[in-house]
Amino acid sequence: MSITSTATAAITEPPVAPNALICPGCGEDVIPVPPAFWRLADGLPTATFSHCDRSALCRTRVGDVAEPVEAR
Ligand SMILES: [Zn+2]
Repeated sequence: MSITSTATAAITEPPVAPNALICPGCGEDVIPVPPAFWRLADGLPTATFSHCDRSALCRTRVGDVAEPVEAR
């Protein structure tokens, strides 16, 4: 088997938008800004992401702070 051309390997994937992150709890868009309000009493590190209205991301079932996920 010999390779005669590499032209077919030039398929490029569309770039991923840097802001294509959503909250896994509600599916809202996420911004890379800490939430405006944060319950320090929870003893959790301040999140680095928040909803577009600056509220903290939805908590997971076990009470952890949700991590943003890539929108599909
Ligand atoms: Zn949410």
